[in-house]
Amino acid sequence: MKISTAFVPLLLMMVMGCRPEKKTVMQYPDFEIGVIADCQYCDCDPTDVRFYRKAPARLKEAVTELNTHKLDYTIHLGDFIDRNFNSFDTLIPIWGGLHMDKFHVLGNHDFSVADSLKPMVFEKMGLKDRYYSIVKNKWRFIVLDGNDLSVHGALTADKKQQTDSLYALLSDRELPNLKPWNGGLGKDQLQWVENELKLATENKERVGFYCHYPVLGETNDLTLWNYEQVLTLIDKYECVKFYFNGHHHDGSYVQKNGVHYLNFKGMLDTPDSTSYARVAFHNDSILVSGYGREPDRGLKIR
Ligand SMILES: [Zn+2]
Repeated sequence: MKISTAFVPLLLMMVMGCRPEKKTVMQYPDFEIGVIADCQYCDCDPTDVRFYRKAPARLKEAVTELNTHKLDYTIHLGDFIDRNFNSFDTLIPIWGGLHMDKFHVLGNHDFSVADSLKPMVFEKMGLKDRYYSIVKNKWRFIVLDGNDLSVHGALTADKKQQTDSLYALLSDRELPNLKPWNGGLGKDQLQWVENELKLATENKERVGFYCHYPVLGETNDLTLWNYEQVLTLIDKYECVKFYFNGHHHDGSYVQKNGVHYLNFKGMLDTPDSTSYARVAFHNDSILVSGYGREPDRGLKIR
């Protein structure tokens, strides 16, 4: 019997359809990273909750310890310095001692330098871009710049104008986070984030966010100005698994829809204890091994 070639795809589909469907379960590799928040050094006298001159020794101790582990990278979640551009020069050689890839998130205090020096902060911190993503091990780590629209970090006329518009828009609502030491994301960054989330979904990558500012936490006066826009994006994409930040030195943990919002504690807040962590990624969980005041945690990946 001669079968018309037009029927061949149909026959193939019928044969294939009889086979039990093979479900592909993605496996994600195991790896570990280092996380430090708010090193915040300056050569300044201490306050009750900021022991500035302890920061270099704390950072050095963390670098030495993290170097004894096999880590993919270490990330600092912003406020590397407290103020003064030359504070970077004390920390950078110590930070450079990490035997692994290293990344910075921009914090508000990283802009507590003379206006003329602000454009040089990025190069000083080794940043090619103010916001960027790190793609490795089937994960996409999205590094946000929460100072994009802010009093201290909006450096172009367009960003200053967007800052004024956002501030005016939110002022009517008397939000507790509408403080000059917080900041927000501009339109181009929000669009970029959505593109990254679409790309991650297409590539079956998992997504974690790093930002200096929280979008959800136990206190709400330190959140990103337009945290609602970021939360809306996170809620829309199943690929998002966590959001890590600093800024609120006491730390905080909240879970919403299975996404973990973890605020790491500041490194320099007490006279005698540090705070930083190793974070291990497994197929079904994220394990935080804390040092000093940072607690251990087991976070289930949704
Ligand atoms: Zn901060």
